[in-house]
Amino acid sequence: MKYMKKKMIALIISFAVVISPLPTVSDSSVVEAAQKVYYVPGSSYAYHRTKNCWSLRRSKNIKAITIKKAKQLGLKKCKIRGCW
Ligand SMILES: [Zn+2]
Repeated sequence: MKYMKKKMIALIISFAVVISPLPTVSDSSVVEAAQKVYYVPGSSYAYHRTKNCWSLRRSKNIKAITIKKAKQLGLKKCKIRGCW
């Protein structure tokens, strides 16, 4: 039984390790900055929430970057309905 208890504690600790790297709700700006968005270098001035945005359908060279990087590149948030 003692062994079982130890195993349980180890399990709880490993869960805590998995959960702890997740940012808290109050850090929403950090989450947004690290969020991945998609854009097409050279032919687009917008970044997209999803690769499936219809304006990207004909694009082959879709790159994933963070929102922070997208803003640094001067890209604007895609305004297409359904993208975000
Ligand atoms: Zn879009």
